[in-house]
Amino acid sequence: PLVLGIETSCDETGVGIVRGTTLLADAVASSVNDHARFGGVVPEIASRAHLEAMVPTIQRALDTAGIKASDLDGIAVTAGPGLAGALLVGVSAAKAYAWALDKPLYGVNHLASHICVDQLEHGRLPEPTMALLVSGGHSSLLLTSDITSDVRPLGATIDDAAGEAFDKVARVLGLGFPGGPVVDRMAREGDRKAIHFPRGLSGPKDPEYDFSFSGLKTAVARWVEAKRRAGEDVPVADVAASFQEAVTDVLTRKAVKACKDNDVDHLMIGGGVAANSRLRAMAEQRCERAGIRLRVPRPGLCTDNGAMVAALGAEMVWRNREPSALDLSADSSLPLTEVSIAAPVHTD
Ligand code: ATP
Ligand code: MG
Ligand code: FE
Repeated sequence: PLVLGIETSCDETGVGIVRGTTLLADAVASSVNDHARFGGVVPEIASRAHLEAMVPTIQRALDTAGIKASDLDGIAVTAGPGLAGALLVGVSAAKAYAWALDKPLYGVNHLASHICVDQLEHGRLPEPTMALLVSGGHSSLLLTSDITSDVRPLGATIDDAAGEAFDKVARVLGLGFPGGPVVDRMAREGDRKAIHFPRGLSGPKDPEYDFSFSGLKTAVARWVEAKRRAGEDVPVADVAASFQEAVTDVLTRKAVKACKDNDVDHLMIGGGVAANSRLRAMAEQRCERAGIRLRVPRPGLCTDNGAMVAALGAEMVWRNREPSALDLSADSSLPLTEVSIAAPVHTD
């Protein structure tokens, strides 16, 4: 199936086009620079930027793919979770195109899309697959046997998401926003054993598949604060590397354990933090040792984009899933177990 996907849940206006599991176009317009001076995404600025970028980005994707909109078999859009106003721009555009072109509309979950995108790189997901979803707003271990209908949460963060921790630590170190990519870069020049930061929820009595990154973030802030108060230089690269080591150590250890405990031999890592070079390297080592096949999309497909939405839309068409109704609305807090918003069944 030939599907166009629209993503506007945060600050990226993404439009992707896929044919089955083949990526034809992935156009992204980001408003990230408009938010940088505020130290975080400003919802109203994001919504306005989406509105301006929406139609040109759709056109750019169609041109790149070399297809006509009338060739499409369906239009998929992120219906949630995310910023309400931002989501609304994408959902409205998708509804307009679906109605004008008379194509089925699929309102899908942003988080399931972060997982499904891997199909564009490594083919269809094995059944079952363990997914470690690590992004700006989420950190979860999920077991899925069918990404369009069955996403079972095994555990999640009890406080901050992994990406949020990267962003906050970057702020403490004065590295700017967003923090993930710059901490990743700085860490390459640092010693990851320089400082031992706490590994949250890693005790014998702690929940096995849950995460906690808020204590780690505070520990880093205190450590940096103490250095500054003592008038000493902060070894930024060492702090970045040691912090990153603590995050990736816990994430990979729990993901591998979840695979072993549940007899699952495929681990997928998705979401913005999956772009992290140390997480990728450590996961590779630990999966290899445990006999687990690892699947991680290339970094450009880990952060928000339209291709991931198109990938899930194509899977929906493939599996004959019910399309959404044209009165679809965005749901800013769509639970991750709800992969799509199907049309309501009318009874009278
Ligand atoms: P969600 O998907 O939970 O709704 P989101 O869409 O805002 O949240 P993503 O775009 O998936 O999040 O990921 C963005 C997050 O990924 C940010 O917190 C960013 O700092 C982090 N990130 C991006 N690249 C890297 C990297 N190389 N290393 C670590 N973190 C990274
Ligand atoms: Mg983003
Ligand atoms: Fe995301």
